[in-house]
Amino acid sequence: PVRVRFAPSPTGPLHAGGVRTALYNYLFARQQGGQMLLRIEDTDQNRFVPGAEAYILEALEWLGIEIDEGPKQGGPHAPYRQSERKEMYREYADRLITEGKAYYAFDTPEQLDDMRKRLEAAKVAAAQYNAITRMEMTNSLTLSQEETAARLESGDAYVIRMKIMPKEDIRFNDLIRGWVVVHSSQIDDKVLLKSDGMPTYHLANIVDDHLMGITHVIRGEEWLPSAPLHVLLYRYLGWESTMPQFAHLPLLLKPDGNGKLSKRDADLGGFPIFPLEWTDPVSGEKAKGFREEGYLPDATANFLALLGWNAGTEQEIFSMEQLISLFSFDRVHKAGARFDIQKGNWFNQQYLKMLDDAEVIQTLKPLYLAKEIVLSDEQLAQIVHLLKDRVHFVKEIVTESLFLFDAPDTYDPDVALKKWNEEAINAISGLKDALNGFSGDFMAHDIKELIFATMESLGIKMGKIMQALRLALTGAGVGPDLMIIMEILGKKEVIMRLENALN
Ligand code: GLU
Repeated sequence: PVRVRFAPSPTGPLHAGGVRTALYNYLFARQQGGQMLLRIEDTDQNRFVPGAEAYILEALEWLGIEIDEGPKQGGPHAPYRQSERKEMYREYADRLITEGKAYYAFDTPEQLDDMRKRLEAAKVAAAQYNAITRMEMTNSLTLSQEETAARLESGDAYVIRMKIMPKEDIRFNDLIRGWVVVHSSQIDDKVLLKSDGMPTYHLANIVDDHLMGITHVIRGEEWLPSAPLHVLLYRYLGWESTMPQFAHLPLLLKPDGNGKLSKRDADLGGFPIFPLEWTDPVSGEKAKGFREEGYLPDATANFLALLGWNAGTEQEIFSMEQLISLFSFDRVHKAGARFDIQKGNWFNQQYLKMLDDAEVIQTLKPLYLAKEIVLSDEQLAQIVHLLKDRVHFVKEIVTESLFLFDAPDTYDPDVALKKWNEEAINAISGLKDALNGFSGDFMAHDIKELIFATMESLGIKMGKIMQALRLALTGAGVGPDLMIIMEILGKKEVIMRLENALN
Protein backbone atom coordinates (compact mmCIF):
# COMPACT_ATOMS: atom_id res chain seq x y z
CA PRO A 1 0.00 0.00 0.00
CA VAL A 2 1.09 3.55 -0.66
CA ARG A 3 2.39 5.34 2.41
CA VAL A 4 3.49 8.95 2.21
CA ARG A 5 4.58 11.42 4.80
CA PHE A 6 4.66 15.14 5.29
CA ALA A 7 7.73 15.83 7.40
CA PRO A 8 7.96 19.48 8.39
CA SER A 9 10.50 20.92 10.78
CA PRO A 10 8.72 23.02 13.38
CA THR A 11 10.82 26.10 12.72
CA GLY A 12 7.98 28.54 12.09
CA PRO A 13 4.75 28.81 10.17
CA LEU A 14 4.13 26.57 7.22
CA HIS A 15 4.29 28.61 4.04
CA ALA A 16 2.52 28.11 0.74
CA GLY A 17 5.19 25.75 -0.61
CA GLY A 18 4.99 23.53 2.45
CA VAL A 19 1.24 23.45 2.32
CA ARG A 20 1.33 22.47 -1.32
CA THR A 21 3.75 19.65 -0.52
CA ALA A 22 1.36 18.40 2.16
CA LEU A 23 -1.54 18.70 -0.25
CA TYR A 24 0.12 16.69 -3.05
CA ASN A 25 1.08 14.00 -0.55
CA TYR A 26 -2.51 13.87 0.63
CA LEU A 27 -3.99 13.77 -2.88
CA PHE A 28 -1.71 10.94 -3.90
CA ALA A 29 -2.29 8.94 -0.71
CA ARG A 30 -6.08 9.20 -1.00
CA GLN A 31 -6.07 8.41 -4.68
CA GLN A 32 -4.05 5.26 -4.08
CA GLY A 33 -6.07 4.23 -1.05
CA GLY A 34 -2.91 4.64 1.01
CA GLN A 35 -1.94 6.42 4.20
CA MET A 36 -0.72 9.90 4.94
CA LEU A 37 1.68 10.38 7.83
CA LEU A 38 2.73 13.52 9.61
CA ARG A 39 6.21 13.37 11.07
CA ILE A 40 7.68 16.25 13.00
CA GLU A 41 11.38 16.60 12.17
CA ASP A 42 12.65 18.42 15.22
CA THR A 43 16.18 17.09 15.60
CA ASP A 44 17.66 20.55 15.21
CA GLN A 45 16.90 21.88 18.66
CA ASN A 46 18.44 25.27 17.85
CA ARG A 47 15.81 25.96 15.27
CA PHE A 48 12.87 24.81 17.33
CA VAL A 49 10.10 27.42 17.52
CA PRO A 50 7.37 27.07 20.13
CA GLY A 51 3.89 26.93 18.67
CA ALA A 52 5.05 25.86 15.23
CA GLU A 53 3.85 22.26 15.52
CA ALA A 54 0.39 23.29 16.72
CA TYR A 55 0.28 25.79 13.87
CA ILE A 56 1.08 23.09 11.32
CA LEU A 57 -1.64 20.80 12.65
CA GLU A 58 -4.22 23.56 12.63
CA ALA A 59 -3.26 24.68 9.14
CA LEU A 60 -3.57 21.19 7.66
CA GLU A 61 -6.90 20.71 9.35
CA TRP A 62 -8.18 24.04 8.06
CA LEU A 63 -7.27 23.04 4.51
CA GLY A 64 -9.00 19.68 4.79
CA ILE A 65 -5.81 17.62 4.68
CA GLU A 66 -6.50 14.59 6.85
CA ILE A 67 -3.67 12.80 8.58
CA ASP A 68 -3.84 9.05 9.23
CA GLU A 69 -0.82 8.71 11.50
CA GLY A 70 0.97 11.44 13.37
CA PRO A 71 1.77 12.97 16.75
CA LYS A 72 -1.89 13.78 17.38
CA GLN A 73 -3.44 10.72 15.76
CA GLY A 74 -0.89 8.20 16.99
CA GLY A 75 -0.28 5.04 14.99
CA PRO A 76 1.75 1.85 14.82
CA HIS A 77 5.04 3.73 14.43
CA ALA A 78 4.63 6.21 17.29
CA PRO A 79 6.23 8.41 18.38
CA TYR A 80 6.02 10.61 15.28
CA ARG A 81 8.25 13.35 16.66
CA GLN A 82 11.91 12.71 15.88
CA SER A 83 13.15 14.20 19.14
CA GLU A 84 11.22 11.45 20.92
CA ARG A 85 12.87 8.80 18.74
CA LYS A 86 16.41 9.98 19.47
CA GLU A 87 17.59 6.63 20.86
CA MET A 88 16.56 4.73 17.75
CA TYR A 89 18.93 6.42 15.33
CA ARG A 90 22.22 5.76 17.08
CA GLU A 91 22.05 2.04 16.39
CA TYR A 92 22.11 2.67 12.64
CA ALA A 93 25.00 5.08 12.84
CA ASP A 94 26.92 2.50 14.90
CA ARG A 95 26.13 -0.19 12.39
CA LEU A 96 27.57 1.93 9.59
CA ILE A 97 30.72 2.44 11.64
CA THR A 98 31.12 -1.29 12.23
CA GLU A 99 30.73 -1.92 8.53
CA GLY A 100 33.27 0.77 7.60
CA LYS A 101 30.67 2.98 5.93
CA ALA A 102 30.88 5.75 8.50
CA TYR A 103 33.51 7.00 10.93
CA TYR A 104 34.08 9.09 14.03
CA ALA A 105 35.36 12.60 13.46
CA PHE A 106 36.84 14.58 16.34
CA ASP A 107 37.54 17.86 14.57
CA THR A 108 36.94 20.97 16.60
CA PRO A 109 34.92 23.84 15.15
CA GLU A 110 38.24 25.74 14.77
CA GLN A 111 39.79 22.96 12.72
CA LEU A 112 36.77 22.81 10.46
CA ASP A 113 36.79 26.55 10.06
CA ASP A 114 40.45 26.45 9.21
CA MET A 115 39.94 23.90 6.52
CA ARG A 116 37.11 25.88 5.03
CA LYS A 117 39.14 29.08 4.92
CA ARG A 118 42.13 27.35 3.40
CA LEU A 119 40.06 25.73 0.67
CA GLU A 120 38.24 28.93 -0.06
CA ALA A 121 41.50 30.81 -0.35
CA ALA A 122 42.65 28.14 -2.79
CA LYS A 123 39.44 28.79 -4.74
CA VAL A 124 38.22 25.23 -4.47
CA ALA A 125 34.64 25.38 -5.74
CA ALA A 126 33.06 24.31 -2.48
CA ALA A 127 34.94 23.42 0.65
CA GLN A 128 34.16 19.79 1.31
CA TYR A 129 34.93 17.22 3.94
CA ASN A 130 35.63 14.41 1.50
CA ALA A 131 38.00 11.62 0.50
CA ILE A 132 40.80 14.12 0.00
CA THR A 133 40.38 16.52 2.88
CA ARG A 134 39.42 13.93 5.46
CA MET A 135 43.01 12.65 5.30
CA GLU A 136 44.26 15.84 6.99
CA MET A 137 41.53 15.95 9.56
CA THR A 138 41.19 14.22 12.89
CA ASN A 139 39.01 11.16 12.56
CA SER A 140 38.97 7.45 13.01
CA LEU A 141 40.25 6.92 9.48
CA THR A 142 43.39 8.95 10.14
CA LEU A 143 43.96 8.02 13.77
CA SER A 144 45.09 4.58 14.86
CA GLN A 145 42.49 2.28 16.41
CA GLU A 146 44.11 2.77 19.80
CA GLU A 147 44.01 6.55 19.50
CA THR A 148 40.42 6.48 18.41
CA ALA A 149 39.49 4.21 21.30
CA ALA A 150 41.35 6.44 23.73
CA ARG A 151 39.62 9.56 22.50
CA LEU A 152 36.22 7.96 22.73
CA GLU A 153 37.11 6.68 26.17
CA SER A 154 38.16 10.09 27.44
CA GLY A 155 34.88 11.56 26.23
CA ASP A 156 36.18 13.81 23.45
CA ALA A 157 33.42 15.36 21.40
CA TYR A 158 32.84 13.68 18.07
CA VAL A 159 30.37 13.40 15.24
CA ILE A 160 29.72 10.40 13.03
CA ARG A 161 30.29 11.07 9.37
CA MET A 162 29.24 9.05 6.38
CA LYS A 163 32.10 7.83 4.22
CA ILE A 164 31.48 8.79 0.62
CA MET A 165 33.42 6.72 -1.89
CA PRO A 166 35.02 8.72 -4.67
CA LYS A 167 34.39 8.18 -8.38
CA GLU A 168 30.94 6.82 -8.22
CA ASP A 169 27.77 7.77 -10.05
CA ILE A 170 24.64 7.82 -7.96
CA ARG A 171 21.43 7.60 -9.93
CA PHE A 172 17.77 7.43 -9.15
CA ASN A 173 14.54 7.88 -11.03
CA ASP A 174 12.52 10.87 -9.88
CA LEU A 175 8.81 10.64 -10.66
CA ILE A 176 8.80 14.23 -11.88
CA ARG A 177 12.32 14.79 -13.15
CA GLY A 178 13.18 11.39 -14.58
CA TRP A 179 16.71 10.04 -14.14
CA VAL A 180 18.92 12.11 -11.89
CA VAL A 181 22.62 11.33 -11.90
CA VAL A 182 25.07 12.83 -9.45
CA HIS A 183 28.74 12.09 -9.13
CA SER A 184 29.96 11.27 -5.64
CA SER A 185 32.55 14.06 -5.87
CA GLN A 186 29.61 16.43 -5.47
CA ILE A 187 28.79 15.01 -2.06
CA ASP A 188 30.78 15.39 1.10
CA ASP A 189 31.07 13.17 4.14
CA LYS A 190 27.87 14.39 5.70
CA VAL A 191 27.43 14.28 9.44
CA LEU A 192 24.93 11.60 10.43
CA LEU A 193 25.07 11.88 14.21
CA LYS A 194 25.85 15.17 15.93
CA SER A 195 28.03 15.66 18.98
CA ASP A 196 24.93 15.95 21.17
CA GLY A 197 23.86 12.47 20.08
CA MET A 198 21.06 13.79 17.92
CA PRO A 199 20.85 12.47 14.38
CA THR A 200 21.06 14.95 11.54
CA TYR A 201 18.13 15.41 9.21
CA HIS A 202 19.67 12.97 6.72
CA LEU A 203 20.02 10.03 9.08
CA ALA A 204 16.74 10.53 10.90
CA ASN A 205 14.83 11.05 7.67
CA ILE A 206 16.10 7.84 6.05
CA VAL A 207 15.76 5.70 9.15
CA ASP A 208 12.22 6.90 9.75
CA ASP A 209 11.12 6.62 6.14
CA HIS A 210 12.39 3.04 6.21
CA LEU A 211 10.90 2.06 9.58
CA MET A 212 7.60 3.75 8.80
CA GLY A 213 7.26 1.93 5.50
CA ILE A 214 7.20 5.05 3.35
CA THR A 215 6.75 4.19 -0.33
CA HIS A 216 6.89 7.69 -1.87
CA VAL A 217 8.87 10.71 -0.78
CA ILE A 218 7.09 13.76 -2.16
CA ARG A 219 8.83 16.99 -1.20
CA GLY A 220 10.09 20.33 -2.44
CA GLU A 221 12.84 20.76 -4.99
CA GLU A 222 15.13 22.25 -2.35
CA TRP A 223 15.70 18.67 -1.18
CA LEU A 224 16.79 17.39 -4.58
CA PRO A 225 20.50 17.96 -3.81
CA SER A 226 20.11 15.75 -0.71
CA ALA A 227 18.47 12.91 -2.59
CA PRO A 228 21.67 11.25 -3.89
CA LEU A 229 22.99 11.17 -0.34
CA HIS A 230 19.76 9.56 0.77
CA VAL A 231 20.00 6.98 -2.01
CA LEU A 232 23.52 6.15 -0.80
CA LEU A 233 22.28 5.83 2.76
CA TYR A 234 19.62 3.35 1.69
CA ARG A 235 22.33 1.41 -0.06
CA TYR A 236 24.72 1.54 2.91
CA LEU A 237 22.02 0.38 5.27
CA GLY A 238 20.99 -2.46 2.97
CA TRP A 239 17.54 -1.07 2.37
CA GLU A 240 17.81 -0.39 -1.33
CA SER A 241 15.14 -2.88 -2.34
CA THR A 242 12.50 -1.04 -0.32
CA MET A 243 13.78 2.45 -1.05
CA PRO A 244 10.87 4.86 -1.56
CA GLN A 245 10.32 6.53 -4.91
CA PHE A 246 11.17 10.21 -5.03
CA ALA A 247 9.11 13.07 -6.41
CA HIS A 248 10.63 16.54 -6.11
CA LEU A 249 8.08 19.30 -6.57
CA PRO A 250 8.83 22.52 -8.45
CA LEU A 251 9.67 25.67 -6.54
CA LEU A 252 7.15 28.37 -5.91
CA LEU A 253 8.40 31.62 -7.41
CA LYS A 254 7.78 35.19 -6.37
CA PRO A 255 4.73 36.83 -7.97
CA ASP A 256 6.93 38.50 -10.59
CA GLY A 257 8.66 35.20 -11.33
CA ASN A 258 11.98 36.55 -10.07
CA GLY A 259 13.47 34.09 -7.62
CA LYS A 260 11.87 31.71 -5.21
CA LEU A 261 9.06 32.66 -2.89
CA SER A 262 10.42 33.21 0.57
CA LYS A 263 8.90 33.78 3.95
CA ARG A 264 9.93 37.41 3.66
CA ASP A 265 7.61 37.94 0.70
CA ALA A 266 4.74 37.86 3.15
CA ASP A 267 5.85 41.21 4.55
CA LEU A 268 7.01 42.72 1.29
CA GLY A 269 3.88 42.20 -0.74
CA GLY A 270 1.41 42.51 2.09
CA PHE A 271 -0.31 39.37 0.82
CA PRO A 272 -0.61 36.09 2.67
CA ILE A 273 1.76 33.23 1.94
CA PHE A 274 0.89 31.42 5.19
CA PRO A 275 -2.32 29.44 5.66
CA LEU A 276 -3.00 31.00 9.06
CA GLU A 277 -1.89 34.21 10.67
CA TRP A 278 1.45 33.81 12.43
CA THR A 279 2.76 35.76 15.36
CA ASP A 280 6.49 35.45 15.80
CA PRO A 281 7.01 34.29 19.40
CA VAL A 282 10.18 36.36 19.76
CA SER A 283 9.56 39.63 17.90
CA GLY A 284 5.78 39.54 18.26
CA GLU A 285 5.51 40.46 14.58
CA LYS A 286 2.42 39.31 12.77
CA ALA A 287 2.31 37.82 9.30
CA LYS A 288 -0.93 37.50 7.37
CA GLY A 289 -2.72 34.21 6.90
CA PHE A 290 -5.10 33.07 4.18
CA ARG A 291 -7.71 32.16 6.78
CA GLU A 292 -7.79 35.54 8.51
CA GLU A 293 -7.66 37.42 5.21
CA GLY A 294 -10.92 35.74 4.29
CA TYR A 295 -9.84 33.08 1.83
CA LEU A 296 -12.03 30.02 1.91
CA PRO A 297 -10.19 26.78 2.65
CA ASP A 298 -11.44 25.04 -0.51
CA ALA A 299 -10.42 27.99 -2.64
CA THR A 300 -6.99 28.07 -1.03
CA ALA A 301 -6.47 24.34 -1.58
CA ASN A 302 -7.62 24.62 -5.20
CA PHE A 303 -5.31 27.59 -5.80
CA LEU A 304 -2.30 25.80 -4.28
CA ALA A 305 -3.04 22.54 -6.10
CA LEU A 306 -2.69 24.33 -9.42
CA LEU A 307 0.69 25.82 -8.54
CA GLY A 308 2.75 23.24 -10.35
CA TRP A 309 0.08 20.85 -11.55
CA ASN A 310 -2.78 20.94 -14.07
CA ALA A 311 -5.36 18.47 -15.23
CA GLY A 312 -4.40 18.86 -18.86
CA THR A 313 -7.70 20.59 -19.63
CA GLU A 314 -9.01 24.14 -19.34
CA GLN A 315 -10.72 23.27 -16.06
CA GLU A 316 -9.48 25.22 -13.06
CA ILE A 317 -12.12 24.69 -10.39
CA PHE A 318 -11.70 21.34 -8.66
CA SER A 319 -13.18 20.00 -5.47
CA MET A 320 -10.86 18.04 -3.19
CA GLU A 321 -12.54 14.84 -4.45
CA GLN A 322 -11.80 15.79 -8.04
CA LEU A 323 -8.22 16.69 -7.22
CA ILE A 324 -7.80 13.32 -5.54
CA SER A 325 -9.02 11.43 -8.57
CA LEU A 326 -7.18 13.52 -11.17
CA PHE A 327 -3.80 14.15 -9.57
CA SER A 328 -0.82 12.60 -11.32
CA PHE A 329 2.94 13.10 -11.20
CA ASP A 330 2.97 13.13 -15.01
CA ARG A 331 1.25 16.48 -14.91
CA VAL A 332 3.45 18.07 -12.26
CA HIS A 333 5.69 20.62 -13.96
CA LYS A 334 9.45 20.70 -13.64
CA ALA A 335 9.60 24.49 -13.91
CA GLY A 336 8.85 26.73 -10.97
CA ALA A 337 5.32 28.00 -10.47
CA ARG A 338 4.66 31.72 -10.11
CA PHE A 339 2.78 32.50 -6.91
CA ASP A 340 0.22 34.97 -8.19
CA ILE A 341 -2.07 36.09 -5.41
CA GLN A 342 -4.42 37.72 -7.95
CA LYS A 343 -5.12 34.23 -9.15
CA GLY A 344 -5.76 33.23 -5.54
CA ASN A 345 -8.27 36.06 -5.29
CA TRP A 346 -9.95 34.85 -8.45
CA PHE A 347 -10.29 31.37 -6.97
CA ASN A 348 -11.80 32.82 -3.85
CA GLN A 349 -14.33 34.72 -5.93
CA GLN A 350 -15.36 31.53 -7.73
CA TYR A 351 -15.82 29.67 -4.46
CA LEU A 352 -17.66 32.57 -2.88
CA LYS A 353 -20.15 32.50 -5.77
CA MET A 354 -20.76 28.82 -5.09
CA LEU A 355 -21.31 29.37 -1.38
CA ASP A 356 -24.85 29.27 0.03
CA ASP A 357 -26.21 32.72 0.83
CA ALA A 358 -27.13 31.48 4.30
CA GLU A 359 -23.51 30.65 4.99
CA VAL A 360 -22.35 34.04 3.75
CA ILE A 361 -24.91 35.72 6.00
CA GLN A 362 -23.55 33.94 9.06
CA THR A 363 -20.03 35.13 8.25
CA LEU A 364 -21.25 38.65 7.62
CA LYS A 365 -23.16 39.20 10.85
CA PRO A 366 -20.18 39.70 13.15
CA LEU A 367 -18.44 41.83 10.52
CA TYR A 368 -21.35 44.27 10.45
CA LEU A 369 -21.69 44.17 14.22
CA ALA A 370 -18.05 45.18 14.50
CA LYS A 371 -19.04 48.28 12.56
CA GLU A 372 -22.05 48.73 14.83
CA ILE A 373 -24.46 48.03 12.01
CA VAL A 374 -27.37 45.85 13.09
CA LEU A 375 -29.24 44.16 10.25
CA SER A 376 -32.06 41.66 10.06
CA ASP A 377 -31.50 38.36 8.24
CA GLU A 378 -33.80 39.66 5.55
CA GLN A 379 -31.71 42.78 5.05
CA LEU A 380 -28.55 40.69 5.05
CA ALA A 381 -30.06 38.42 2.42
CA GLN A 382 -30.81 41.44 0.23
CA ILE A 383 -27.28 42.74 0.59
CA VAL A 384 -25.77 39.33 -0.18
CA HIS A 385 -27.98 39.07 -3.24
CA LEU A 386 -26.83 42.52 -4.33
CA LEU A 387 -23.11 42.08 -3.86
CA LYS A 388 -22.07 38.43 -3.63
CA ASP A 389 -21.18 38.11 -7.30
CA ARG A 390 -19.24 41.35 -7.38
CA VAL A 391 -16.62 40.73 -4.67
CA HIS A 392 -13.68 38.41 -4.04
CA PHE A 393 -14.13 38.16 -0.28
CA VAL A 394 -17.05 38.09 2.13
CA LYS A 395 -15.56 41.00 4.04
CA GLU A 396 -15.67 43.09 0.86
CA ILE A 397 -19.45 42.86 0.96
CA VAL A 398 -19.32 44.99 4.10
CA THR A 399 -17.10 47.69 2.67
CA GLU A 400 -18.98 47.67 -0.64
CA SER A 401 -22.32 48.08 1.13
CA LEU A 402 -21.46 51.00 3.39
CA PHE A 403 -23.09 53.44 0.96
CA LEU A 404 -26.42 51.85 1.89
CA PHE A 405 -26.12 53.14 5.44
CA ASP A 406 -24.65 56.55 4.69
CA ALA A 407 -26.27 58.91 2.22
CA PRO A 408 -23.65 60.36 -0.13
CA ASP A 409 -22.32 63.81 0.68
CA THR A 410 -20.09 63.95 -2.37
CA TYR A 411 -20.80 62.96 -5.96
CA ASP A 412 -18.32 61.66 -8.51
CA PRO A 413 -17.45 64.90 -10.33
CA ASP A 414 -16.72 63.24 -13.71
CA VAL A 415 -20.10 61.54 -13.82
CA ALA A 416 -21.80 64.68 -12.56
CA LEU A 417 -20.24 66.75 -15.34
CA LYS A 418 -21.42 64.38 -18.05
CA LYS A 419 -24.75 63.18 -16.76
CA TRP A 420 -26.18 65.75 -14.35
CA ASN A 421 -27.87 67.91 -17.00
CA GLU A 422 -31.19 69.65 -17.22
CA GLU A 423 -32.94 66.61 -18.60
CA ALA A 424 -31.66 64.48 -15.74
CA ILE A 425 -32.70 67.01 -13.15
CA ASN A 426 -36.21 67.13 -14.66
CA ALA A 427 -36.41 63.37 -14.72
CA ILE A 428 -35.23 62.95 -11.15
CA SER A 429 -37.51 65.55 -9.75
CA GLY A 430 -40.39 63.95 -11.71
CA LEU A 431 -39.42 60.59 -10.26
CA LYS A 432 -39.30 62.04 -6.75
CA ASP A 433 -42.87 63.30 -7.14
CA ALA A 434 -44.00 59.97 -8.49
CA LEU A 435 -42.39 58.19 -5.54
CA ASN A 436 -44.13 60.48 -3.11
CA GLY A 437 -47.43 59.45 -4.59
CA PHE A 438 -46.52 55.75 -4.79
CA SER A 439 -48.16 53.45 -2.28
CA GLY A 440 -47.50 49.98 -3.69
CA ASP A 441 -44.88 47.45 -2.55
CA PHE A 442 -41.46 49.02 -2.70
CA MET A 443 -39.88 46.09 -4.49
CA ALA A 444 -37.26 46.17 -7.24
CA HIS A 445 -39.69 45.01 -9.87
CA ASP A 446 -42.39 47.57 -8.97
CA ILE A 447 -39.83 50.35 -8.67
CA LYS A 448 -38.60 49.60 -12.14
CA GLU A 449 -42.12 49.80 -13.55
CA LEU A 450 -42.71 53.06 -11.76
CA ILE A 451 -39.54 54.56 -13.23
CA PHE A 452 -40.51 53.33 -16.70
CA ALA A 453 -43.96 54.83 -16.48
CA THR A 454 -42.69 58.12 -15.11
CA MET A 455 -40.03 58.48 -17.80
CA GLU A 456 -42.51 57.61 -20.50
CA SER A 457 -44.88 60.31 -19.35
CA LEU A 458 -41.99 62.80 -19.28
CA GLY A 459 -40.82 61.66 -22.70
CA ILE A 460 -37.32 60.82 -21.42
CA LYS A 461 -35.51 57.60 -22.29
CA MET A 462 -34.58 55.37 -19.32
CA GLY A 463 -31.01 54.96 -20.57
CA LYS A 464 -30.46 58.70 -20.43
CA ILE A 465 -31.03 59.16 -16.73
CA MET A 466 -29.96 55.92 -15.08
CA GLN A 467 -26.42 57.07 -14.32
CA ALA A 468 -27.66 60.37 -12.91
CA LEU A 469 -30.09 58.47 -10.74
CA ARG A 470 -27.31 56.23 -9.49
CA LEU A 471 -25.17 59.27 -8.81
CA ALA A 472 -27.96 60.87 -6.78
CA LEU A 473 -28.51 57.72 -4.73
CA THR A 474 -24.97 56.45 -4.23
CA GLY A 475 -22.59 59.25 -5.17
CA ALA A 476 -20.89 56.95 -7.73
CA GLY A 477 -21.30 56.34 -11.42
CA VAL A 478 -21.09 52.53 -11.29
CA GLY A 479 -22.25 49.86 -8.90
CA PRO A 480 -24.59 46.94 -8.40
CA ASP A 481 -28.24 46.63 -9.47
CA LEU A 482 -29.87 49.99 -8.84
CA MET A 483 -33.41 48.66 -8.45
CA ILE A 484 -32.30 46.35 -5.66
CA ILE A 485 -30.37 49.21 -4.07
CA MET A 486 -33.59 51.24 -4.02
CA GLU A 487 -35.51 48.33 -2.57
CA ILE A 488 -32.96 47.98 0.24
CA LEU A 489 -32.86 51.74 0.89
CA GLY A 490 -36.64 51.95 1.15
CA LYS A 491 -38.92 54.63 -0.18
CA LYS A 492 -38.27 57.28 2.45
CA GLU A 493 -34.50 57.08 2.14
CA VAL A 494 -34.66 57.11 -1.66
CA ILE A 495 -36.80 60.24 -1.68
CA MET A 496 -34.51 61.91 0.81
CA ARG A 497 -31.40 61.12 -1.24
CA LEU A 498 -33.06 62.41 -4.40
CA GLU A 499 -33.99 65.63 -2.61
CA ASN A 500 -30.43 66.05 -1.35
CA ALA A 501 -29.07 65.63 -4.84
CA LEU A 502 -31.53 68.09 -6.34
CA ASN A 503 -30.65 70.81 -3.82
N1 GLU B 1 12.19 18.19 7.50
C1 GLU B 1 12.29 18.46 6.11
C2 GLU B 1 11.57 19.77 5.83
O1 GLU B 1 11.46 20.54 6.72
C3 GLU B 1 11.69 17.31 5.34
C4 GLU B 1 12.19 17.15 3.96
C5 GLU B 1 11.73 15.82 3.40
O2 GLU B 1 10.52 15.71 3.14
O3 GLU B 1 12.52 14.91 3.28
O4 GLU B 1 11.12 20.08 4.77
